[in-house]
Amino acid sequence: MKLEKVRNIGISAHIDSGKTTLSERILFYAGRIHKIEDVRGDGDGATMDHMELEKERGITITSAATSLQWKDHHINLIDTPGHVDFTVEVERSLRVLDGAVLVLCSVGGVQSQSITVDRQMKRYQVPRIAFINKMDRTGANPFRVTQQLREKLGAEAFPMQYPIGAEDHFEGVVDLVEMKSYRFSGTEGQDIIVGEVPENIADECAEARVQMLDALSMYSDEMMELLLSEEEVPLPLIYKVTRDAVLAGATPVFMGSAFKNKGVQPLLDAVNRYLPSPLDREIHGNDPSDETVKIALKPDPKEKFVGMAFKIVDDPFGQLTFMRIYQGTIEKGGTYVNQRTGRSERFSRIVRMHSNKREEVDKASAGDIVAVMGIDSASGDTYCLDRDQCTLESMFVPDPVIKIA
Ligand code: GDP
Repeated sequence: MKLEKVRNIGISAHIDSGKTTLSERILFYAGRIHKIEDVRGDGDGATMDHMELEKERGITITSAATSLQWKDHHINLIDTPGHVDFTVEVERSLRVLDGAVLVLCSVGGVQSQSITVDRQMKRYQVPRIAFINKMDRTGANPFRVTQQLREKLGAEAFPMQYPIGAEDHFEGVVDLVEMKSYRFSGTEGQDIIVGEVPENIADECAEARVQMLDALSMYSDEMMELLLSEEEVPLPLIYKVTRDAVLAGATPVFMGSAFKNKGVQPLLDAVNRYLPSPLDREIHGNDPSDETVKIALKPDPKEKFVGMAFKIVDDPFGQLTFMRIYQGTIEKGGTYVNQRTGRSERFSRIVRMHSNKREEVDKASAGDIVAVMGIDSASGDTYCLDRDQCTLESMFVPDPVIKIA
């Protein structure tokens, strides 16, 4: 697994904006949730029945972390509790993210909890993109919501898509980078018809593209110069600058209707394309003998192992410790130190959680998120190869530094 193709992401939202629906759709498109036809053969209620099946097995898609594949990227979808309070649990789950999708309702816009989760993400400097959901609803207005992102959250927000049709007639989106239309059809919206920009919205799309490039040019002199000399900006440069902008705190805006299966696949493309990989983040631990000394961790499988237990889940098979590996590699059967207890523990089983199955793995390395079975840990524990390496949790408010490109 190439680290630059790994995405550790969370989905944050105000309640009812469609976080659950979006998560289900993501797992569906990534092939992790099977249609009911596969399960029972009567053809309706696709995901729900699978959910029931999952409950029986003690696994749900709201598992602490679910791994999925989207095109050539490996995505770990981490459950970010939508607590209003700034709890330790919220802090830990945010810490293990390299990026997030902020889901907003196209009608409700920026609501109270969006402000809370935004504050939490800012505190942890979690780069994010926004997804304006429920574009099929009466009164849907992605431009108003984008404006609210600017005004209420102070975000550098700019749409990277333009809607095709509105409300009941919302059909898809125009990708403003490629200037192509994406329409969704098929019962699950799985068939994408890629085409030209519809003529009736060609002017609006051209204008929206200019605004998007203007917003992006703040992050790139090269792009600024091309725009000033009225030259075409090459697509790879737009992709790169958008990535840099996201790392620097900007919020590109995407849109769709998770419920109607529209826009989810381009959102996954955006996750791959624009959200950071573990290589883009700088993480520090503390020296166990002197808390004031910071130790930079390298997302390198060859370095000595450092990981953090961020969530403990009891399930019928025993205790699962979800762990983010920041540095080095863990191996099945290997022995690692719990920095809180000082005890060495054997990692006899390491599993990767998928929505519909768990996969035992022999090893896992820097940048990855896995669950270790049967170890005696508490949420927030640091595990290392050696006792004198570092601790991660001792500071309540850690200091992940984002590289400003
Ligand atoms: P959560 O609280 O953020 O997890 O939201 P849910 O996914 O549970 O969705 C809340 C409600 O909004 C449910 O009734 C969904 O069916 C509905 N919903 C989700 N996505 C959409 C959408 O794209 N369009 C419409 N019209 N309703 C949606």
